[in-house]
Amino acid sequence: MDRVSLNQVIQIIQGTPVLPDLVTTEIEGISIDSRTTAAGDLFFAIQGKRLDGHQFATEALRRGAQACVVNRGAEIGRYSQRFITVDNVNEALQLFARWYRSQQQATMIGVTGSVGKTTTRNMIHTALSPYLKGTQSPANYNNEFGVPLSVAQIESVHEYAVLELAASRVGEIRDLAQITQPEIGVITGIGPSHLERFGTLNQTANAKGELFEQLTAQGLAVVNGDDPFAEFLISKTSARTLKVGLGEQNDLQAVSIRQTDDGIWFQFESTEFFIPVQGKHFVSAALVAIAIGKEFGLSNQDLVESLGQFSSVPGRCHVGLVGNWTIIDDSYNASPVSMRAACQVLKDWAGLGKRVLVMGDMLELGAESNRYHQEIGELIATSGIDLLFVCGKQAGAVVQGAVSANLSRDRIVQAPDVTELQSNVASCLEAGDVVLVKGSRGMRMERLISFLNQQV
Ligand code: ATP
Ligand code: MG
Repeated sequence: MDRVSLNQVIQIIQGTPVLPDLVTTEIEGISIDSRTTAAGDLFFAIQGKRLDGHQFATEALRRGAQACVVNRGAEIGRYSQRFITVDNVNEALQLFARWYRSQQQATMIGVTGSVGKTTTRNMIHTALSPYLKGTQSPANYNNEFGVPLSVAQIESVHEYAVLELAASRVGEIRDLAQITQPEIGVITGIGPSHLERFGTLNQTANAKGELFEQLTAQGLAVVNGDDPFAEFLISKTSARTLKVGLGEQNDLQAVSIRQTDDGIWFQFESTEFFIPVQGKHFVSAALVAIAIGKEFGLSNQDLVESLGQFSSVPGRCHVGLVGNWTIIDDSYNASPVSMRAACQVLKDWAGLGKRVLVMGDMLELGAESNRYHQEIGELIATSGIDLLFVCGKQAGAVVQGAVSANLSRDRIVQAPDVTELQSNVASCLEAGDVVLVKGSRGMRMERLISFLNQQV
């Protein structure tokens, strides 16, 4: 973050310093977590769902925070002289981020969608970063707290910032886009993720479409043109639009896609691209990165070189070796769209050993959950998978779907929790086998990967 005068920040967030002298100092960063607060930070005592930051304000000061923003009248024991009081700390954080962004020259790229935000954000940063100075959201910082923290990472030397924007309710993307004011907006696609929050796919599309609504006529909207909602999303913006994908209807189209042991290959404008990952679904993310790279004046050859350096984010289709087994760690999350992509990865897998899928429930799918699990079961049966280990409350629906599509029952093991599957998985594995591990965050499927690591 650029250094800013605390006096200015106090005005922006409409705060009142307990001690007037405080205003002569500068801050070098912001923090909402006292465990990682650094010297020179301004600490915002956020009231979250589980924790109240006011409990940690004194600790943040001990760790070197310049000052703490706290709610007027909050119960925090003895008031420190380095407190700044406001009506609402959560709003103060947003006010700060909005102002800080307005001081920055970097081209802002906002990425939203039901699936693939982190992957696409990372792909864009990989494409641009060898040639331009820029930054991307840390970790999965994509909500009302994470986005302001991401914005605070931007500095005046940066030429671009690629930020992930997520929605847990209608109106949230609009709020986040108003803070970040992106010049470029990306929607990776619309799918049944978090359906419990949005109700229907149409409502999900409306919520994500808020990003395109917020772009100005000078902006650029990039959308996955293979998505059934692409035209609907495009209709929401006055910005220039680009559709990217595999179909002929796209402005940027990838052709001749093939998967080898090393990674994925495709052609774009007669140039051969290679990305060292497993999964054809990475191609659409790469096309988004190519579209944006071209906006910055990069050539296809520049982009071939930078995208060749891409590495997947742990937990998102991340391929690694554990002893003689290949583990595809896709344990970060699961929804029908990403589960289909995972089945395709196993289907395209070039290795000769057994293909094993260990899957946990796809959560938050609402009333249609059973049907979605059954359909994935059917898909598993036709994806060349040798062994299916399945756990969770919806495991029965997956098994029902798989058996109805002729996967033999003796290839299926079912249990309530992944910990009850792990020994069984390990004992079935032989050298050269591949195991893909996937389930929603709440299923904590990564426990199996830790277990397998302990077996070698
Ligand atoms: P979150 O909402 O949790 O932040 P996200 O939108 O950032 O998720 P990622 O973390 O990139 O999404 O990916 C989530 C899952 O979807 C991972 O399992 C990943 O491998 C898979 N995935 C990523 N991109 C795609 C895609 N284009 N199609 C299908 N699956 C994908
Ligand atoms: Mg993410």
